[in-house]
Amino acid sequence: MNVSVDATTCAGHGRCYTLAPDVFGMDDEGRGVADHVPVPPGQEARAEEAILNCPERAVIRNG
Ligand code: SF4
Repeated sequence: MNVSVDATTCAGHGRCYTLAPDVFGMDDEGRGVADHVPVPPGQEARAEEAILNCPERAVIRNG
């Protein structure tokens, strides 16, 4: 599993890195950061939660 945050639609709600801190980073303005990040073993469910809970649908599953 591999995920990204679309920086053009992310509005900085912070749910992604709150739900999956081992997958998503945060920039200085509170936006989620991930660019084709491989989800570590055991973190898949948290990453799925982040995808489902992003209000802007900015978390993208690449594969
Ligand atoms: S939950 Fe969505 S809108 Fe919020 S920081 Fe993460 S990617 Fe951005």
